[in-house]
Amino acid sequence: MAELVLNHVYKDYKLENKSKFTALTDINLSFEKGELVSIIGESGSGKSTLMNLIGGLDSDYTGEIKIDGADLKSFKDKQLDDYRKKKIGFVFQSFNLIPHLSVIDNVTIALTLSNVKESVKRERAMELLTKLGLKDHAKKKPTQLSGGQKQRVAIARALINNPDIILADEPTGALDSETTLQILDILKSIADNENKLVIMVTHSEKVAKISSRIVEISDGKVIHDEQKSDYIKSEKKEKLLACYDIESKDLNNSKKKKEGHLSIFSALKLSFQNMWASKTKNILMAVGVSISLIALILMLSLGSGLTGYIDSLAQDYSNPNYVTISKSGYDRDGNELEDNGNFMVPRMFEDEEIEEVASDINSYLQTEGSDFQIITSGEGQNLTYGFSCPTIGIGTSTISTIPAVDEETELPEEVKTENIMYAYTTPPYYTEDNLIAGSMSGDGEIMLSSAVIDFLGYKTAEEMFANDNKPTVQLYINMTYDGVRIEINKTVQISGIVDVSVFSGMMVMYLDYDFLDACVMEAQENVDVEPTGLSPSLLFIETDGKNTTDMINYYIDTYRRDLSGSIEEQLASMFSEMMSTFSIALAIISGISLFVALIMILVVLYMSVSERTKEIGVLKSIGARKKDIKMIFSTESLLIGLLSGIVGILLTLIIGAILIGVFTALIGFAPLSMNWYYFAIALLISIVISVIAGVYPASKAAKLDPVESLRRE
Ligand code: ADP
Ligand code: MG
Repeated sequence: MAELVLNHVYKDYKLENKSKFTALTDINLSFEKGELVSIIGESGSGKSTLMNLIGGLDSDYTGEIKIDGADLKSFKDKQLDDYRKKKIGFVFQSFNLIPHLSVIDNVTIALTLSNVKESVKRERAMELLTKLGLKDHAKKKPTQLSGGQKQRVAIARALINNPDIILADEPTGALDSETTLQILDILKSIADNENKLVIMVTHSEKVAKISSRIVEISDGKVIHDEQKSDYIKSEKKEKLLACYDIESKDLNNSKKKKEGHLSIFSALKLSFQNMWASKTKNILMAVGVSISLIALILMLSLGSGLTGYIDSLAQDYSNPNYVTISKSGYDRDGNELEDNGNFMVPRMFEDEEIEEVASDINSYLQTEGSDFQIITSGEGQNLTYGFSCPTIGIGTSTISTIPAVDEETELPEEVKTENIMYAYTTPPYYTEDNLIAGSMSGDGEIMLSSAVIDFLGYKTAEEMFANDNKPTVQLYINMTYDGVRIEINKTVQISGIVDVSVFSGMMVMYLDYDFLDACVMEAQENVDVEPTGLSPSLLFIETDGKNTTDMINYYIDTYRRDLSGSIEEQLASMFSEMMSTFSIALAIISGISLFVALIMILVVLYMSVSERTKEIGVLKSIGARKKDIKMIFSTESLLIGLLSGIVGILLTLIIGAILIGVFTALIGFAPLSMNWYYFAIALLISIVISVIAGVYPASKAAKLDPVESLRRE
């Protein structure tokens, strides 16, 4: 029985306008083992078309092609892949070696697709390469070889699976006459010594002459078929594929075993080799993708950093048993008051306003069924006064505060105006627990934040109060109060240092309300004004617990737009407002950039598929399944995701460290809390978007028509 038989084979190419072009007409041929067949004919006569049909690359024909009696038409996809992998070896005119793989990896690629053990692959490949005179070139890349060497590598690749049929489409077309002879010698020996069927397409008369049979095709028809009676077999040489004779039994056995396929490990290795070949492109892309990951990690870190910061603010400054009320700078309808822009002016409560606020809240509490009532004076009084104002100026020998400065205010020479200071009357819930050192202030005393320690020439807070000493400073207040200029100039003692936690970089002064009240009264007397004393800018309500505190705060927030919580609470709400705007902005930015990253990966992979069309064609001609091609491209997108993730993490660590340094230097703390799981999330997202981006290019690659891919120049 003949090895390969073609009966009435017709091949039509469908053209765009629904017409067709008949490339092969009624081909009837029969080939035996050991034949060296030359197919000759003019360009466009249908030689390559015939080779593609025989090679199982093109199944769109009519008629019969029989291999060892089995009809190729009846083969399922899987059998056809196997047929290409095991039965056929392709050799092309333009070599079609995979450029980023070494010689040995090119030769073993068909075995890789069958998941053959590494040591077996190497052994077989080295044996072939040695016999083809390429022993010393195994580690080279194809670009480092001459044309003849490349074609010998291609022949080794075609032979690695010990196929029965070698199809060579113009194998010497790109070679000079000397190397042409070398290659012909090898092909001839494959036919003569290994008893294989070698079919080669050629233009050259000389090449055709050395073959055992010449088939001439013209316009898709066989016009001449001649067996050469004067064919001289080449001398018996050592077999190229000696290793297969010993193993042939094993090979038969392995057919019964489950067939090996491209392993994920090999696919990863192939992808890695391809990515390595275009390192710069891939690293640049990874940097591009990583920008979105950096935005994502920083967004999450900033979110939790600020939340933590606000929590600490709230914990440090609010007491669940107290409501702090100040004027908001708006009226009850939410219209801005005239002086709202000037934060230097304390907004003070008149006595009637205090009563109004108290009774308004009391009636709300009553309707809500609460037992708690605000008592503004007398027995059970639970409303106390406070005063707060930004002030400027602190001198080395004097502590001077100037609330409500206007243009006329002249500062004493020793006052440094670049230091902004905040002055508070001590909140009623402050205790020794709020102090770093010293004791609570009384009459003639003030407390300061730790930023002042260094300023006054001390190293530590403890040092300031060593041996029960209390340093004295000059308290200098020069302000326009109720339209009248008053001046306070008093020697006071520093009684303690207050822990202002996150504000530790700011200079803050605390003093007793009664003491400040007495100072103002004295100053008013000095300028012959009726001594009214201090009016409060803060009201503290001591409640019966957190529930009532929350109820009152809720009422103020919702119904009293003219009032607001303490400065600290305002700060906290300002921060959380800022943070939510900021995180929404960052979420949008990182969302968009993740999408851009996805598109970018998709484009790069898509381009990679176009660039590697030929390689895909070669892999298919070697017997790669659609699945294998898909796996190679999917693993590549996985690796891109991994690489981008790692680059993103590294860059975030660097940028994060810089940001923390800058924030700490500027505001004394860094609102960034970088948790390890943010990095894990970013890595995961990076891998997920890359894999998603890879789905389309990978399936496009898998669907490529091998015949078209190979025709591509
Ligand atoms: P050869 O290898 O002998 O030079 P081919 O087998 O490549 O010729 O092509 C035979 C004929 O079929 C040519 O006329 C060519 O233009 C035509 N042909 C090849 N491939 C296609 C195709 N995909 N679509 C339409 N026509 C094709
Ligand atoms: Mg051709």
